[in-house]
Amino acid sequence: MNEHAVVIVGGGPTGMMLAGELMLAGVDVVIVERRLSHELDGSRAGGLHSRTLEVLDQRGIADRFLSEGQIAQVQSFGGTRLDISDFPTRHPYGLGLWQNHIERILAGWVDELAVPVHRGREVTGFAQTDAHVDVELSDGHSLRAEYLVGCDGGRSLIRKTAGIEFPGWDPTTSALIAEAELAEEPELGIRRDSRGIHSFGRLEYEIRDGEVVYLDGGPIRIMVTEGHPGPAGEPTLRDLSEALTAVYGTDYGVHSTAWISRFTDMTRQAASYRERRVLLAGDAAHVHSPVGGQGLNVGVQDAVNLGWKLAQVVKRTSPELLLDTYHAERHPVGARVLQNTMAQVALNNPDERHQALRDTMAELLGMDEPRRRLAGMLSGLDIHYDLGAGHPLLGRRVPDLDLDTADGPVRLFTLLHDARPVLLNLDAPWAWETSPWSDRVLTIDAEYVGDWELPVLGRVAAPSAVLIRPDGHVAWVGDGTDTGLRDALTTWFGSR
Ligand SMILES: Cc1cc2nc3c(=O)[nH]c(=O)nc-3n(C[C@H](O)[C@H](O)[C@H](O)COP(=O)(O)OP(=O)(O)OC[C@H]3O[C@@H](n4cnc5c(N)ncnc54)[C@H](O)[C@@H]3O)c2cc1C
Repeated sequence: MNEHAVVIVGGGPTGMMLAGELMLAGVDVVIVERRLSHELDGSRAGGLHSRTLEVLDQRGIADRFLSEGQIAQVQSFGGTRLDISDFPTRHPYGLGLWQNHIERILAGWVDELAVPVHRGREVTGFAQTDAHVDVELSDGHSLRAEYLVGCDGGRSLIRKTAGIEFPGWDPTTSALIAEAELAEEPELGIRRDSRGIHSFGRLEYEIRDGEVVYLDGGPIRIMVTEGHPGPAGEPTLRDLSEALTAVYGTDYGVHSTAWISRFTDMTRQAASYRERRVLLAGDAAHVHSPVGGQGLNVGVQDAVNLGWKLAQVVKRTSPELLLDTYHAERHPVGARVLQNTMAQVALNNPDERHQALRDTMAELLGMDEPRRRLAGMLSGLDIHYDLGAGHPLLGRRVPDLDLDTADGPVRLFTLLHDARPVLLNLDAPWAWETSPWSDRVLTIDAEYVGDWELPVLGRVAAPSAVLIRPDGHVAWVGDGTDTGLRDALTTWFGSR
């Protein structure tokens, strides 16, 4: 039986991101993925939000995505566009890029890092003891791991086998999405009617002056809301034809579907993200309506929160207790996404009263404070882990500052490329004692001239030093002394 420190089930966006994080930390990790290649059936998610771009920037790979996608103001709430171009981030926008491309780029990164991926193999079960987890594979082999992470999507076998509850709400609406060819050319764009929202688009598009402009030719991407939540299981061409006819009076001669799928607004969240040696991340931990395009983003950010913590636990530099902070920090973030998607599904209800509500919301969101508040949440830029009272930076993401160091100018995010903690001193060079951590915390003296400005909050007082976790969140803020620094180093990066 092969043994690994960590086995990740599922090589979707969450699993790949987590594997990359663990590999950067030098952990023996393997992915088990049922699909034979990273190719996806269908395009699924349409892009990345600002904080996800920042997270990828923290690892030095954001440009790979930016060079292939379309930058745009994609944030919206209940149909109202929320412009974030004034947000203090290097990426005050979203990126339009289909999930199949996102996965291809992530797969390239994971390949470079030499993460072993067992493709075409399925996990069929597992058993955990106090010391390890034995993982059964469909080909009769098994793997032994210290920790098992279920990144195996919304129907997660890992979640079910671990006995983790998945409370929430059943679907109230469903839609079919497909890529297909049509005998007759439909009018491209969005239509609203008494059933809900429907659209025809093309896979290939450009964003010009903030508007989507479809390129000529290629398959059509269809989304059509069904009259009643459709049944579980794979939808057929006939289902698609009937749903189109019900809305448009014709199915436009739909044929040759490259793929067809159904999504719903089922909204559920794992009661716990950890059951002893088993953890959940991404869709395995939370499912909701795709409205607002947040699912993939939250999964990637779960992975970046978990990766360094799990690495420290398997390397015995931190106690297992550190893993509990993963649930404590990420469960509330997931719960907020569930809440905002439910609110948006309600707002999208096509009747006249909901139209009045949408209009009212649009009016409110035209005001600066509500816009910033909701856009901060949807972009992921306002995430605030509860690390106690103190400076507003504590628990929030550090901004990507332009720093001056003895070795020349450097962007703060560049210091995070290796996924190591950073102790950044912005005051006079210090002689504080940090030796027990010096092998794993990058300590750097730098100068920064400029404001400290956070999304939503605005300007905050400049700190004299900050301790930054590998996920880019601030674990300690200095006020000219080292009060509290050793405690923070011990809490987050272990005592040994
Ligand atoms: C129509 C649609 C539109 C969407 N739009 C957006 C959007 O615009 N923005 C956004 O952020 N999100 C969007 N989403 C959601 C997004 O696609 C998911 O949130 C995202 O794919 C979750 O990633 P994941 O890695 O957690 O899970 P998945 O992508 O589901 O990956 C799970 C992986 O696990 C593998 N697997 C499962 N079980 C096993 C097993 N037993 N053994 C081995 N392998 C296994 C699967 O093959 C799969 O590769 C959309 C989803 C849909 C359906």
